[in-house]
Amino acid sequence: MDGIYLDNNATTRVDEAVVAAMLPYFTEQFGNPSSLHSFGNKVGLAVKKARLQVQELLGAEHESEIIFTSCGTESDSTAILSSLKAFPERREIITTTVEHPAVLSLCQYLEKEGYKVHYLKVDGNGRLDLGEYSRLLNERIAIVSVMWANNETGTLFPVMEMAEMAHAAGVLFHTDAVQAVGKMPIDLKNTKIDMLSLSGHKLHAPKGVGVLYLRRGVRFRPLLRGGHQERGRRAGTENTASIIGLGKACELALDAMVFENTEVRRLRDRLEAGILATVPRSFATGDVKNRLPNTSNIAFEFIEGEAILLLLNKFGIAASSGSACTSGSLEPSHVMRAMGIPYTAAHGTIRFSLSRYTTEAEIDRVIQVLPQIVAQLRTLSPYWGENGPVESPEQSFSPVYA
Ligand code: PLP
Repeated sequence: MDGIYLDNNATTRVDEAVVAAMLPYFTEQFGNPSSLHSFGNKVGLAVKKARLQVQELLGAEHESEIIFTSCGTESDSTAILSSLKAFPERREIITTTVEHPAVLSLCQYLEKEGYKVHYLKVDGNGRLDLGEYSRLLNERIAIVSVMWANNETGTLFPVMEMAEMAHAAGVLFHTDAVQAVGKMPIDLKNTKIDMLSLSGHKLHAPKGVGVLYLRRGVRFRPLLRGGHQERGRRAGTENTASIIGLGKACELALDAMVFENTEVRRLRDRLEAGILATVPRSFATGDVKNRLPNTSNIAFEFIEGEAILLLLNKFGIAASSGSACTSGSLEPSHVMRAMGIPYTAAHGTIRFSLSRYTTEAEIDRVIQVLPQIVAQLRTLSPYWGENGPVESPEQSFSPVYA
């Protein structure tokens, strides 16, 4: 592969074994799994196998709890909208200020439709206050939707405890686990989580396939109506090749789980320590003690994240920035702002997200080139003088790693 790809929270390379598993389902095995002839039956059996592979990775109790969808966004929308339709007398939602737009934009839309949404705040390290959460839980809440792992910082939320609390209050609990699945062990049958979203392209399966896990017995209303596919819970002819690829990717993720949490974590820590030791005025954001093993989000004060990205790209290094300039907005990421990180640092955040394909040589190359890039950009920064930073009102933020 050309270049150094450290943007795996955006999307991942499809594993070759996944491609191999998929290929026959475009040509020889092209049947519709709903058909009664053998063309259909064979594909139906392969889809069933994929369902079992997803079930196993999630530790779900039963294969019927796995609903194939088109992506993580569809799974999130389905979970939230289903709960609102299933409990029409409940007009309130609890979520967090740092969700992915797949949840946040829907919640903002729902507010316009007259629903009340409670956004839980995070502290300087991206952690939630469960006291505030507990006070908000009551019989007016249709659903709680809280991400398992944050896509920008990798910070993990205590979703198992939060699901227990929701159940004790008689409230459904959904988690957007798009970033968590495949990177950390999950055993849903031993939790009170009612619904969970995942997305194929974050775990080395193709884009355009996802899953909504729906615990047996949870009241549900489909988003798409039409055919009887997915036991009437998601109409539309199945994306069979991608579903089969996702099943294989889940099997591979289970096999790689220890590697992900030892070797990938070790490389992430090496990268982060190497950068923080050599780049002045840089710090890691989020809950560094409690986060995904593959993610490091680092703020480089007084420079623009996008400029860093462009220069990294010249060295063939791909990462991602928390600033949203490319989308036409000068606002830094909502996650950084929610943590109270000042503009002078929030604008300069870079997310490095590794995968099981990342090598030590790649990490060492990044550690080698990044200090020069930052130093070069700081010579252009109005906030950086000959002797380091010049006074600015928002400079005083210092994260506390308690
Ligand atoms: N939720 C989270 C936390 C994500 O990181 C993403 C993708 O970046 C999504 C949802 C959306 O997933 P998809 O691209 O499959 O719609």
